Amino acid sequence: MNKLTVARAPVSEWLAQLPSVDKVLALECCQDWLRHYGRDEVLRVIRSTLALIRQECLAQKRTTQPDLEAVLAEIRQTLEKRATPNLRRVINLTGTVLHTNLGRAVMPPEVIDAMASAAAEPCALEYDLGEGKRGDRDELVEELLCELTGAEAATVVNNNAAAVFLLLHALSNRKETIVSRGELIEIGGAFRIPDIMKRAGAKLIEVGTTNRTHPRDFSEAINPKTALLMKVHTSNYVVQGFTAEVPEADLARIAHERQLPFVVDLGSGTLIDLARYGLPSEPTPRQALEAGADLVTFSCDKLLGGPQAGILVGRRDLIQKIKKNPLKRVLRVGKVTLAGLEAVLRLYRNPETLPQRLTVLQLLTRPESEMQAQALRLMPQVQAGLLTCGLTLHTRPVKSQIGSGSLPVERLPSVALAIEASTKAHEKTVVRLERLLRASPTAVIGRLSEKSLLLDLRCLTIDKEQVLVAHLLAAVASLVAAP
Ligand SMILES: *Cc1c(COP(=O)(O)O)cnc(C)c1O
Repeated sequence: MNKLTVARAPVSEWLAQLPSVDKVLALECCQDWLRHYGRDEVLRVIRSTLALIRQECLAQKRTTQPDLEAVLAEIRQTLEKRATPNLRRVINLTGTVLHTNLGRAVMPPEVIDAMASAAAEPCALEYDLGEGKRGDRDELVEELLCELTGAEAATVVNNNAAAVFLLLHALSNRKETIVSRGELIEIGGAFRIPDIMKRAGAKLIEVGTTNRTHPRDFSEAINPKTALLMKVHTSNYVVQGFTAEVPEADLARIAHERQLPFVVDLGSGTLIDLARYGLPSEPTPRQALEAGADLVTFSCDKLLGGPQAGILVGRRDLIQKIKKNPLKRVLRVGKVTLAGLEAVLRLYRNPETLPQRLTVLQLLTRPESEMQAQALRLMPQVQAGLLTCGLTLHTRPVKSQIGSGSLPVERLPSVALAIEASTKAHEKTVVRLERLLRASPTAVIGRLSEKSLLLDLRCLTIDKEQVLVAHLLAAVASLVAAP
């Protein structure tokens, strides 16, 4: 009661003193905005900002009178914010190279060039230039895919989830697909093998137990309604201890004895054995096909290092059947994706240069000594600033992850900058710093671990070093300004 009578009088005065839309429009600063953002946008923002301020005054959410300076500052901020893209750039210092929430694979310059020119100009996407008639967009990459995997035929869809879905819909609709119980995986929440099966119209027959599945489990489950035997690469976890899984070659033999196709969802699918580059091995489509798989599916934006897409390779007759399914049209990829995919696949023709040319592999194979040298370059530039906020800075050996379900238990030795509170009183400052870095123009994403902020340097390319330094110093300045 008391509060109301005290507050009401000044609020009505504040409202009366707010500038009109016309008054703002006539101001000098507004002429710049009009040139830059256009009349419609500036008017929209002036009106909405004034309305918001009025509403906040009436709701007594403001404790001081909004003067002209404050009103103009709010309009400017809103104009700037609305002009900033929603898809923000990020410096990935999480230590996860293929981070699904940060867009997975970062692509090489020649791949980006190919995608940009496909976007900028007309291209022969579905046009046979030799014959002067309609062509098939899959042909742009089919030969390369066959060459790199040893398959007879190939097709491309939106992502690997789509590849698995289309495969089941085309080959197992109203029929049964047999999968080991140990492989009924969930990936990133929305992709669960049993749910995909159901939506594709396939009846899932689970065999074996979580930890052990034997050849006879499969052969005994086969009946006239069986359409496929399927193996799913358990991307994001491992079953350890008393375990048994049926090797691909045995599954292929069991399937083929009954004239059934054997299909494999490889998940990440790298086209070359990474052991060659000193990394842990991940199965390749070629190995699966050589073991007898009739079809293999995999992602293009995981270890392969390209744009988001899903690939199906294998027997020609099965690929033909899949391509004839009407859902292929629903799940097809666009020209920008195909241009990027073709460019990235071409890099695989020369495996020797791949660690220099394929960005994902470049990051995965970065030597520790290089990250250590980078840490030593960065530290003197920000150490003093951090110290003024009560924060200490050290280097720390950490383990990076490959990510996106590739090699879930393998870790790569890396180097991180570790920022910690110098006293207990400064522990909150570490949390605030993490938030400020996330709000930077190029968002800096590290990870809070125990009481430190860890900035894993594995994915910090040289060209982003000074951006990171600038954002760290700006965050320090904010912390100093408002301790
Ligand atoms: C990642 C993954 C998928 C999903 O692939 P997307 O390209 O993300 O659709 C499916 N199966 C396995 C085994 C995976 O690892």
